[in-house]
Parts: sequence; C-alpha cells; structure tokens
Amino acid sequence: MTLLLGLLMGELLVVTLVSMFGFLCWHVANLVRLEKWLRKGGSAMPPIGNGVWGELYYHIYRMRERNRKSKRRLANVISRFKESTSALPDAAVVLHATGEIEWFNAAAAHYLGLSTANDIGQRLINLVRHPSFAAYLTQEDFSSSLEVSSPADETMMLEINIVPYGGKNQNLLIARDITRIKKLENMRKDFVANVSHELRTPLTVLTGSLESLADADDSETLETWRRSLGHMQQHNIRMLSIVDDLLMISRLETEDNKRDHYPVSLSAMLSTIYVEASVLSADAHEIKLDTPSSLWLMGDEKELHSAFSNLVANAICYSPAGGLILITCQQREEGVYFCVKDEGIGIAPHHIQRLTERFYRVDAGRSRASGGTGLGLAIVKHVLDRHGAKLKITSRVEHGSEFCCYFPADRIYDPEK
Ligand code: ADP
Repeated sequence: MTLLLGLLMGELLVVTLVSMFGFLCWHVANLVRLEKWLRKGGSAMPPIGNGVWGELYYHIYRMRERNRKSKRRLANVISRFKESTSALPDAAVVLHATGEIEWFNAAAAHYLGLSTANDIGQRLINLVRHPSFAAYLTQEDFSSSLEVSSPADETMMLEINIVPYGGKNQNLLIARDITRIKKLENMRKDFVANVSHELRTPLTVLTGSLESLADADDSETLETWRRSLGHMQQHNIRMLSIVDDLLMISRLETEDNKRDHYPVSLSAMLSTIYVEASVLSADAHEIKLDTPSSLWLMGDEKELHSAFSNLVANAICYSPAGGLILITCQQREEGVYFCVKDEGIGIAPHHIQRLTERFYRVDAGRSRASGGTGLGLAIVKHVLDRHGAKLKITSRVEHGSEFCCYFPADRIYDPEK
C-alpha cells in the first residue's frame, strides 16, 4: 500500500524509509510494553497486541501460567511433606553430604535439643557431642543402629538410624524414643534374675535335705527325718506361693480387662476377710472392721478379694503383737475408699514409690521369714489398675502405715436400682 503510494507520488525511497521507521517504532513500542509487563511479574493479563506481538504475548502468558501452577503444586507437595514429617513422633534430620543440617522436624528439636534459629547449616556432630554418636556419624556403614541417651534429656534413650539417599551422599537421620522399650527390657532381665534368685534358696534347701536323707543310715532317728521333711515342706510351700503369685500376676497382665466384672458385695467380702485375718493373726492383734452394711462395687470378686486380703495380711505381718489394725470401707460422693491402717514398723519415704514393683521389699529377710513373696503389692496394683482404682500409701517408720484404695464413683453398684 505504502509502496503503491510511493510509486504514485514518485518518492519511493522516502516512503519506504518512513514506513520502515514506523514498523520499527511499532516493534520497539511492543518490546517496551513486553518488558514493562514482564517487570511487573507477568501475572496480570498481557497487553493487547496485534499480529505477531499478540501471539507472542499470549504464548508467554500461557507459559508463565503453566509454570506458576506447577510451582504452586510443588510448593504444596513440599509443605505437605514438611507437615507430615513434622507430625512424625520420630525425629528426622536431613543432612548435607558434609554433615550440615539442612532441615529437621519438631521431634528432632525435642529429642536432640536442636533449634531452628541457630542450628540450620551447623554440623550435627558439633551439636550432639557424644563420642559414640560422633563415631557412628563418621562411619561408612549404617546398616546397624546406635542406642544413645538424648543430649537434651539424659533419662531418654534414643535409637539412631542413618539412611543415605539421593545419590549425593545426603543422609536422613531418624531418632526413635526407646526409653519405654529399654525400661521393659531391663524389667524383664530383673524379673528373670529375681525369680531365679527367689526359687534358688528353697531349691537348694530341698536338694540338701534330699541328699542328707539319701545318705542317711539306719542309725538316724525319726526326729532327724522329721526335721528334714519339715524343712522340705516349708520350702516347698514357699515355692508354691511364689509360683501362685507369679501365675496370678501373669493372669492379671494377660487377661482381658473387665471380662468378669459383676456386682460384688464389699460388705460380705470384708466380713470374710476379717475372719481370715483373725485366723492369720492368731488373735495376736486387735483387728477392727468398719464397713457399711451394704456396699456393692462392679468388679472381679476373686481379684478384689486377693488385693484386699494382701493388704490386711501385710498389716498383720509388719505389726508387732498387740498392734491395732483398722480396716475401713466408706462410700463418698467421689467414690469408694477401702483402707487398711496399722501401727506396725512403718516404711521409710524413699521405699514407698517402689513398693509395688515385683519382688521389691524393704527388708527381704523379714519378708521371707513371714512367708512373703515380695509380689503382694504388685498384685494389688494390677488389680486396682484393672478396676480403674488408685493406691495411696502413707507411712511413718515405727509409727505405722496406711494403704488406701480409691475406686471411682462409676464403679459403685446400687442393688436397689
Ligand atoms: P511381701 O510378700 O514381702 O510382703 P509385698 O509386695 O506385699 O511383699 O510388700 C512389699 C514390701 O512392702 C514388704 O516386703 C514390706 O517391706 C513392705 N510392706 C508392705 N506392707 C507393709 C506394711 N503394712 N507395713 C510395713 N511394711 C510393709
């Protein structure tokens, strides 16, 4: 068109130059608009352009939109990953190839004492100063785990595992709290040692007595035989009591809770326990029972009987002759209280926490002499746990002790309803 106009006017060169200049200006103007639009981030609608520039704006806009969407998707994935690993109960620390911390979750801050503000970018080896941890971190083979105490809390035991990933020697450190497992492991070891120790003495006595009976000649008197048999019987009974108590504990630990919970008349049960206590004490103590004429609990009769009679038997065993033993049972608004109070030898405060541990005794010699197995209070604790009840022990050395069991109000059964 311009060319035609130029030819018509006979000014071809001028017209061509002018039209080229106009074309150039149009491109420059579009470039400036493009640069301005991109400088603003390119997120707004693209400028309206004609021809090739319109197409260009449109394609750039589409590309940026696609980019933005995939970035948003990626950010979502990363934040979901961070959220889920933060919620993990185990500690997770992402480490660079050279051992610097890249990222860690909330559990890592708690278990390893790390702080986001100061420790990102620091070498973990400089923060967790434990010789075995340093040795573990610098080794090549991570097929086995490491058990160490937490640098933030000495009482917490951690199991550390390192998982190499990403092909660039990057490592993920996982730390798991194994305090409870370790405790259970130690308890199991102690338990086996205790049972063996408890059974060893009676078995040694039995073996000794059997040997002397086997070696006895005809000159031995009936009296010597009787003495040996008496010893054997005594230690046999002792072993039976230990095995019975162990079986009881094992049953309490493994059987389904609340399986046999029926209405139990505490008043009737305590009258029976009172009679049994008088026989056990051989009337050497003054035993008093204070219980309402009718009081019922939902529970397991055999278990409750065993727990209550254990407490009463202890009061008798650990009280001198003539001592007063008071058995009380009360119903209050908050629940039922069963207490056994004595004026016996009492217990020093530092023992009280541990009394319900299996085989824990203040004076093992005295306990064995009175036929105790060291398992009575462990049974009491288990039974109470299974009935939602709590045990409270108060005691003063040489003044006496009180063992109280608190049953929640929802355990009370009303036969009238
Ligand atoms: P044991 O068979 O030895 O009596 P228990 O588990 O019943 O085992 O009791 C643990 C320990 O608690 C006893 O060895 C004793 O030292 C202490 N104990 C329990 N009851 C009393 C009490 N009424 N007075 C003093 N000490 C007690």
